[in-house]
Amino acid sequence: MIFDLGSGAFANLRQFVDYHRIDAVIVTHMHADHFLDIVPLRYALKYGSLRRHGKLDLYLPPSGEAMLRTLVSAFAPEGPSDFLDEVFNIRIYDEKTPVEIKGLKLSFSRTVHYIETFAVRAELSNTSMIYSADTAPSEDVVKLAKGCNLFLCESTLGPYETEAGMRGHCSAREAALMAREAGVEQLVLTHYGSGIPPDALAEEARRHFSGDCGVADDFLQLVVG
Ligand SMILES: [Zn+2]
Ligand SMILES: [Zn+2]
Repeated sequence: MIFDLGSGAFANLRQFVDYHRIDAVIVTHMHADHFLDIVPLRYALKYGSLRRHGKLDLYLPPSGEAMLRTLVSAFAPEGPSDFLDEVFNIRIYDEKTPVEIKGLKLSFSRTVHYIETFAVRAELSNTSMIYSADTAPSEDVVKLAKGCNLFLCESTLGPYETEAGMRGHCSAREAALMAREAGVEQLVLTHYGSGIPPDALAEEARRHFSGDCGVADDFLQLVVG
């Protein structure tokens, strides 16, 4: 199961998982840093040597399908429908209807971001995790995160910086405050810029959240629950 597939993610993923074994791809929103590697994944599924049985389920937010088809129409001579539909089953999710994939229950909640965006909670038996996607502090995301084992939360703004005007992202401090309110066990910060020292994020988050606290990076592997 993949939550978001930004540029570079597919190449990294291939070091751990054969692409024909992916169960589903969930895209939280249609900002390029969250979905562009759907394109190389499509080429791998279409022309690669690893063959999967049937099409791959690609879950998009309600506004996602039209946007993706428009984008690929710029470079797909076979037409945007063939380009995508040959290898993907495009499915649209919303915040009202949980989705079950191979026993994993997925629930969605809208976030506070510049475009339509959804956080996603994944549960299997008594184990649960939530991925914030991109969001400013959000009561809806806190509600969705309640009691999760793992909260993978963005901290785009750095340790404690604030955002002027319309909100769409969190600092590490704000992520930690959401984690505390939601009562999660573990917080892992992600979606931060290369100029931000990870240690500074973790240090600030630990001031506000007493649970286990870490920072994500390429190739990080976590066991949930
Ligand atoms: Zn975004
Ligand atoms: Zn983003």
